[in-house]
Amino acid sequence: MSGSRIEGGGQITVRTVRGIGVSEGMSIGTAHVLRSGRRRVARREIKADQTAAELARLDGAVEGAVAELMQVHGRATAEMGEEAAKIFLFHIGMLKDNSVMAPVRERIERDHERAEWAIERSFEALATRFRKMGDTAFSTKVNDIRDLENRLLDQLEGEEPTEPAALTQPDSIVISDELTPSQTAGLDRQAVVGFATDFGGGTSHTSIVARALGLPAVVGCRSISTQVETGETLILDGDRGLVIIDPDEDTLELYRARIETARTVRQSLQELAAEDAVTLDGERIALLGNIEFPDEVEGVLGAGGDGVGLYRTEFLYLTSTVEPTEDDHYKAYRRCLDLLGPDRELVIRTVDLGADKYTQARVEIPERNPALGNRSIRYCLRSLPMFKRQLRAILRASAHGNIKIMFPLVTTLGELRHARMILRDVMEEMAENSEAFDAAVPVGMMVETPASAVSADAFAKEVDFFSIGTNDLTQYVLAVDRTNERVADLYEPANPAILKLIRDVTRSARRREIDLSICGEAAGQPEYAMLLIGMGVRRLSATAGRIPRLKRLIRALRIADCERVARKAISFDSAADVSAYLRDRARKLVPEAFDGRAVGESS
Ligand code: PEP
Ligand code: MG
Repeated sequence: MSGSRIEGGGQITVRTVRGIGVSEGMSIGTAHVLRSGRRRVARREIKADQTAAELARLDGAVEGAVAELMQVHGRATAEMGEEAAKIFLFHIGMLKDNSVMAPVRERIERDHERAEWAIERSFEALATRFRKMGDTAFSTKVNDIRDLENRLLDQLEGEEPTEPAALTQPDSIVISDELTPSQTAGLDRQAVVGFATDFGGGTSHTSIVARALGLPAVVGCRSISTQVETGETLILDGDRGLVIIDPDEDTLELYRARIETARTVRQSLQELAAEDAVTLDGERIALLGNIEFPDEVEGVLGAGGDGVGLYRTEFLYLTSTVEPTEDDHYKAYRRCLDLLGPDRELVIRTVDLGADKYTQARVEIPERNPALGNRSIRYCLRSLPMFKRQLRAILRASAHGNIKIMFPLVTTLGELRHARMILRDVMEEMAENSEAFDAAVPVGMMVETPASAVSADAFAKEVDFFSIGTNDLTQYVLAVDRTNERVADLYEPANPAILKLIRDVTRSARRREIDLSICGEAAGQPEYAMLLIGMGVRRLSATAGRIPRLKRLIRALRIADCERVARKAISFDSAADVSAYLRDRARKLVPEAFDGRAVGESS
């Protein structure tokens, strides 16, 4: 976990924590260690004649919390767009809601409880009530109640905010045991320059959001939250998966130079945005973006992307604390189309809630094995009103642009047929009501379970396109939890078993003449992308930040070389051999695509 180096004959210990570099970039900043979990509040009463003063304390805390939330909301809107920022409006609404705050006041007035205790008791009762409602729209609010409780307690106790989104000091590096995807989405990008957590894996959704934000991040550091103290200087190296605690001047100097070089490289990559992603022998590769929020479309186009290959619409649910309405969906899709224009494609994936995209702590009875549980298309098919609401919104939007519908985690043909039948029902209803939609909207599916990959031929007859999700495919083929840092070393998309499945799915798609793209994180890694192109893949979808480097790679490649690489790579026995071979080939074939950095150095 910690390293040392020899300097000038003496040994200087540099405290270095290793984790998994999940979002590229390096930063130097000040540690901000966040407490997590529930606060302990002592049971305290007040004298009857202190009631008015205690109520005034409570009012002051509420006022302070509202002011803080308004600031956080303003920043989040600028950073992530209106959709992601809504969570904070909901929090303000709760503080102004009499049914939330009246019980607190009552406990102070009637029972003479100290404000902290009254808040703790009332919010606990509220959380229990929400949990018991059985409806996910309510049970998912429990985390928000906890957030609000902590914010009010911070106000009463005059403490530093505990919520990451409330961090405003410039150059903060957030250190925590864990961050949820929505907490990450709410981080203030003006202040926070990176984060490191004890838990997490490279394809967890927190990591995906970090990449979407372009925020350097290292996860799976095991115990960093207990090794670092707020105020310490840190170097966060998302490229190498390192956190250096309290670095010496030489190390700081080294990193200042690295950060400057990275900035120059980014600039030169940016200049490629207007160029086409065409190989040296003239083959065009579509480069699409993965997004979680509509406003990310700007980043995709700015990076030179051709459209959106994966819109993870579940983030509408993850960042809002009220169930999104049909109009909420519709507005989000229209916003994407407005940014994309009439021709660029927008692949909308229906909600993929569940597993790590649906915090189990939020539900009354957590699933024992959520990755194998009620998630994705299974969840949608059991929540038909929710599913239909989304399909209606997508269809309404389809009248205004180039939309494609994609179902996540399809495992059986029965599921696919059921989902398509629901889609047909919704279309019929809309046609009866003379509502406009694209009746020929392409319908596709994610191939991310072993079952759908093995039976790709059968699925290919019933869809217009495939998109291979290497994140889940790797998780399920190798039986390795993608979010678990303890088995992160076993999570290897380069495993030959996965390569063979991808090759077979690619062949099925070609045989049936349907489109195929890859939208898992592996598609964004240059040497892996080279392999995929060699297997015949012509559409890659990745986080915006990965697009410029992919474009540079493609422009330096020849298809025949990629095909040779693919044939050879698939013949190895282990992921380690495949990776070593890919690194070697990439270094020889396209050294310019890696800007002097070691191939494979960035995750
Ligand atoms: C995947 O599984 O590869 C994928 C793209 O979907 P997600 O990461 O949202 O599960
Ligand atoms: Mg997936």
